[in-house]
Amino acid sequence: MEPRKKLINSVDGCVDEALCGLVRASGGLSLLKGHRVLLRSDPENLRGKVALLSGGGSGHEPAHGELGFFGFGKTTPSPTGASGVLLIVKNYTGDRLNFGLAAEQARNHGVAVDMVIVAEDCAFDQPSKAGRRGLCGTIFVHKLAGALAEEGSSLDQIVSKVTEVLKGVGSLGVSLSPCSVPGCRPSFDLPPGDMELGLGIHGEPGIKRSKVASADEVVKTMIDHMTNPDSQSHLPLKSGDSVVVCVNNLGALSCLEIAVVTKAAIVCLEGRGVVVARAMSGSFMTSLEMAGVSLTLMRANQETLRLFDAKTSAPAWPNLSSVCVSGRNYVTEPQAASARPQDDAHSEGPLSPVMRGALERVCSTLLEKQEELNALDRAAGDGDCGNTHAEAAKAIQEWLQDHVVPGDPGQLLSVLAGLVQEKMGGSSGALYSLFLTAAAGHVTEGQSNAAAWAGAMHAGTQAMRRYGGAEPGDRTMLDALCPAVDELMALTTAPPGGQLAVLQTAVQKAASGAEATRDLAARAGRASYIAAERVTLPDPGAVAVAAILGAVLESLEKQK
Ligand code: ADP
Ligand code: MG
Repeated sequence: MEPRKKLINSVDGCVDEALCGLVRASGGLSLLKGHRVLLRSDPENLRGKVALLSGGGSGHEPAHGELGFFGFGKTTPSPTGASGVLLIVKNYTGDRLNFGLAAEQARNHGVAVDMVIVAEDCAFDQPSKAGRRGLCGTIFVHKLAGALAEEGSSLDQIVSKVTEVLKGVGSLGVSLSPCSVPGCRPSFDLPPGDMELGLGIHGEPGIKRSKVASADEVVKTMIDHMTNPDSQSHLPLKSGDSVVVCVNNLGALSCLEIAVVTKAAIVCLEGRGVVVARAMSGSFMTSLEMAGVSLTLMRANQETLRLFDAKTSAPAWPNLSSVCVSGRNYVTEPQAASARPQDDAHSEGPLSPVMRGALERVCSTLLEKQEELNALDRAAGDGDCGNTHAEAAKAIQEWLQDHVVPGDPGQLLSVLAGLVQEKMGGSSGALYSLFLTAAAGHVTEGQSNAAAWAGAMHAGTQAMRRYGGAEPGDRTMLDALCPAVDELMALTTAPPGGQLAVLQTAVQKAASGAEATRDLAARAGRASYIAAERVTLPDPGAVAVAAILGAVLESLEKQK
């Protein structure tokens, strides 16, 4: 197997270039010349305070550099004027050795130095001699120790406080993919349908492999495992406890997946009577591009939360609110008045049955055409044009079931605009909603003759053109709509007996307009991003317009 694709310049240079990019983009950091070490660019503000130093290999960004307050790398700077130095070390042999060496060297130079080892991994029921690994819980130590140092706490006070807090911290990771160090093959093999529980952040495999399950199930498994009293490395957690939860992207999950996992974690913890005091989610301690997530829980009292909430200038620390997650009212009721004002005030009129019949016909036609429209949209768009139209049709059918069709066509068009806006989705949803909203003002109960309908269609089309930015010839629904509306304008002068003939011609124009889009290059909508020669089918939106107008005509012909 080839090494994974990476967007870098060279394997050898990527760490130094990444450090440089990080520092160049952040006003608060500087690079220690000749070393892979980041420093705060305001060392004068550390005078008399404890300096924090953390580090590890690269690939865990933004941990260490943007989330820590000092170091990144394996060399100890000697911050002039600091009252002491705290080393924050994840429990890995290599890290312990390097930081231990640095601590001894610093002591020889007369620097007051102490070390906190983070070992909060909950994966192994019986941890080996090397002990539990240090994972994302490290960033909680950065945060709390940073807040204490900023307040002027002594080295001893900081060590004893964070050591106490660490007893209530636990982490567990799960991944759907391995990661790979630049230039190397993936760290382990994971078949496509599998996930691995309990892995470390250096690509070490985990404790259990299983089929990928739903986010809710995975989160439950993780929290069960983390808090299982039969495991020597479990985090004791009982109902009534208060926690901070960190949902950490190991690198390659989408923000959407992380948000879904965050919701699952909050709900799962609350389901056990645990109070979620704060929740942070995002990328904090990553493993390059591993598609996984880790959960870290920290039991928190008021003092812990005060330190957690303290402001920090660390660039990657999220700007969280200091409101308790559990118990917060997070749903806002829509204001009843702004929903659909006259929805219940409608009364039927002579036109109601005609309009109901036409709508029913339009809906059934669109539902019949769902697959055909999807197929056309697959050729040039994203394949959902039939679905968007079917959603609209279903919403209208549902509405028709328990509402009277108002005799005032303007009111009906407004209702349809609202339904389509809410339910239809896609570009079509917005475009039809604009059309219907603009058309609504042109037909009323008192003014609903054929000429008024033609004016309404014209106004709707104009609104689509104005906001959609497309013109006839751009391969959109306008190529069916515009020729039909031009024809419908003849209704302003047509004698009453000739109106149906005008509509028949308009429907033909729509159909031939839709058919002619086969030969057009798309200049609007998604299809415009696809090479013209690859599109030989008609535009789905145009086909749908022709079908809608055809359905209205059929219904009127039948009702005559
Ligand atoms: P989306 O493109 O968001 O997936 P749909 O699949 O529901 O939306 O609808 C696609 C149709 O929308 C296209 O076939 C085209 O007819 C129409 N369309 C896209 N952009 C425009 C526009 N700017 N003006 C008019 N119609 C457009
Ligand atoms: Mg589409």
